[in-house]
Amino acid sequence: MLAIEWTGPRQMRPTERPKPEPKAHEALLRIESVGVCGSDIHYYEEGRIGDQVVSPPLILGHEYAGIVEAVGAAADASLVGKRVAVEPGIPCMGCEWCRTGHYNVCRDMFFPGGPGSDGALSEYYTVHAGFCHPVAEDVGADVAAMVEPLAVAVHSVELAGLKPGDTAAVVGLGPIGLLVAEVLRVCGADVIYGSDLLSYRVAVAAEYGVTGANDATQRDFVDAIEDWTDGRGVDVSFDCTNRSEGLGIATRIARPAGQVVLTGISGADSDPLPVSTARRRELTLRWCRRFKNNYPAALRLIESGRIDVRKLITHSFPLRRTGEAFALVAGYQDGVLKASIDF
Ligand SMILES: [Zn+2]
Ligand SMILES: [Zn+2]
Repeated sequence: MLAIEWTGPRQMRPTERPKPEPKAHEALLRIESVGVCGSDIHYYEEGRIGDQVVSPPLILGHEYAGIVEAVGAAADASLVGKRVAVEPGIPCMGCEWCRTGHYNVCRDMFFPGGPGSDGALSEYYTVHAGFCHPVAEDVGADVAAMVEPLAVAVHSVELAGLKPGDTAAVVGLGPIGLLVAEVLRVCGADVIYGSDLLSYRVAVAAEYGVTGANDATQRDFVDAIEDWTDGRGVDVSFDCTNRSEGLGIATRIARPAGQVVLTGISGADSDPLPVSTARRRELTLRWCRRFKNNYPAALRLIESGRIDVRKLITHSFPLRRTGEAFALVAGYQDGVLKASIDF
């Protein structure tokens, strides 16, 4: 089968790999679509995210969907023939964290397209069948792959403990930031501010629920929020950037006793945090680790039409041209929001 290997910083190449066989609890998927994620871009460019280091050759890709072609002897046979959105992280299901409902922080997690584990940028892939979520017939494969980042946004808003009418702010309006804004909108946030360094993202933010968008090249977001809220700050703030300074901005724009959620993935091992501001305001900081049990809700938001994830998909490439998709996303070219690899 055709697969795409990452072979070093900014290097991808098509290769042939053997078609996998499903083990007892697994489903064999004919992959249809893989989304390019910001975390993939960290690996693509630097070969690491903080202390998580990958070595080539590696197949990337964890936002994926496909058709179940076969299942192993112990897996749900009714999945065969269905299009599924796949929860990519497969926890051990036996440790203290898995048993107490925190499977997203399992220390023995299998995660595709990460250290030591190939991802889904290949024609076929096997995965634990219990993490395959069938989608409604009118949900396309590219949209089904987007359930993954939407689940991250749902979990982030859940962590923030958003209340109806709360004011919110999102630092960083990439796909995750825009999806967080969408979830805030459907969850009843009153005002949703957003900021980004890329003017093309600021220009489209209103379509994703952002009611006040700030171009960070023109104006510091902390100053803008100070102005817009008469110095109060927002009830909930989110760092959805890939940069070290994102968490500091999210902290400074939160109101006293407010909530700050770190959702974005900075490439650094440690990021500066304005500790005295956080302490004086008695802020609650939440760190978001992907999602847990958020796929069903994310899927319902898509299937009901309440969140349209397809409009985020600005670019589509066939599998062989995966390298071009990664270069485009890494370079923030051509107004890209989400690039999708559609087989
Ligand atoms: Zn992702
Ligand atoms: Zn576990």
